[in-house]
Amino acid sequence: MQRNRSTKIIATLGPASGEQETIAALHAAGADLFRLNFSHGEHADHLARLNAIRAVEQAVGTPIGVMADLQGPKIRIGTIQGDGVDLAVGAAYRLDLTGQPGDGQRAPLPHPEVFAALEEGMDLLIDDGRLRLLVKQLGDDYAECEVVTGGRLTDRKGVNLPQALLPLGAMTAKDQADLRFALEAGVDWVALSFVQRPDDIAEARRLIAGRAAVMAKIEKPAALCQIDEIIELADAVMVARGDLGVELPVEEVPALQKDLIRRARRAGKPVVVATQMLESMISAPVPTRAEVSDVATAVYDGADAVMLSGETASGGFPVEAVEVMNRVAAKVEGDPGYRAIMDAEHADPEATSADAITAAARQVAETISATAIVTYTTSGSTALRAARERPPVPTLVLTPSLITARRLAVAWGLSCVHSADASGFTDMVDRACRAAADRGIATSGDRLVITAGVPFGTPGATNSLRIAWVP
Ligand code: PGA
Ligand code: MN
Repeated sequence: MQRNRSTKIIATLGPASGEQETIAALHAAGADLFRLNFSHGEHADHLARLNAIRAVEQAVGTPIGVMADLQGPKIRIGTIQGDGVDLAVGAAYRLDLTGQPGDGQRAPLPHPEVFAALEEGMDLLIDDGRLRLLVKQLGDDYAECEVVTGGRLTDRKGVNLPQALLPLGAMTAKDQADLRFALEAGVDWVALSFVQRPDDIAEARRLIAGRAAVMAKIEKPAALCQIDEIIELADAVMVARGDLGVELPVEEVPALQKDLIRRARRAGKPVVVATQMLESMISAPVPTRAEVSDVATAVYDGADAVMLSGETASGGFPVEAVEVMNRVAAKVEGDPGYRAIMDAEHADPEATSADAITAAARQVAETISATAIVTYTTSGSTALRAARERPPVPTLVLTPSLITARRLAVAWGLSCVHSADASGFTDMVDRACRAAADRGIATSGDRLVITAGVPFGTPGATNSLRIAWVP
């Protein structure tokens, strides 16, 4: 299936979108990659969703990426009775270790380390900072608080303690168990939450051992101190604005989003903008104007992908949310101003044959008005260098590796086809023309710019550029 945009869409699956029928509808509406959020749900739920994604992939014949997003050392409220409780400003509210479902007077906070680190007078922010409690009195296993910003409190909402110093490791025991499960199930990407240091990525890479690509979620101020090292060690980064906007003053997030996208693009690593992009669509079939503008801004910034969370996982209008993103991204990309921005940000090629060839492919495609660029790749690294060029025409990726094709679903402008390696120049041209025609990218008489490694079938050797006419 060929999209009418280069920016990719990630949809989080959850109770509102677990059925295969819904997943098929989300994919048809524009979702290129699905996120399994290990902060919620049981392994059996995630496995059922993964199997449903693979069935949809088989049916549509387009590689689809799957990301396991590990919770990380995130602090969360425990369960709350029924469908939540309303906290009124000025009311007293108690957090404790009892484990009983929460009500209007108290809620469980099953993290002993929090009670050890809290001090009277500290703020406790819940649900991406929507609710704010002030700690008035502390015991070993409870905190008596006052509600400063009220609202509805529901199950397992995240808690941030901007003033407290918590001993955070890279991966909790739950994360390690989730990781083993996700790798066994065969996910393509693993997203790491609350990355603080390059070592966090290195440790995860050791455990993952190449079985999935690694995405670093940038949501802690500490990560910003060594951001270039983190980007270098990770395969992709996510601007995780939910926690980032609680851990830092919210007005710092827009500039950070632009800076992170610029750095990731320069490094040729995919970058995802996430959280609250179409938040109001959780309960309404249309977005606010401000949300549309936010999605558009991420696209204009040059993000590889934009992500939906609760909108598709638990909202009332999951398919509509993807449709809105799809329309906004396509519209922005059709703006001549967007092209000017993409062209203005070209980083110099590195001194490798893959970079020289992919930079040349973009130039040749522009010069001869080619219809598409076709890239043969095994590991996917050449395709990512091609995406880094943000070329003005579609980039078709032919790869003998289904794993590579699925991973590349996150990257800007790449349409992947799982196809055997070319056996020679004639076969290379034939396959490229056929794939471009099948996808509706090119028709008879169009020209393609094809890059490949010769001798064929040798990974990591992109060294050839060929211009071909579609017969
Ligand atoms: P989360 O990550 O939804 O897992 O918290 C995204 C974010 O913090 O923005
Ligand atoms: Mn987060």
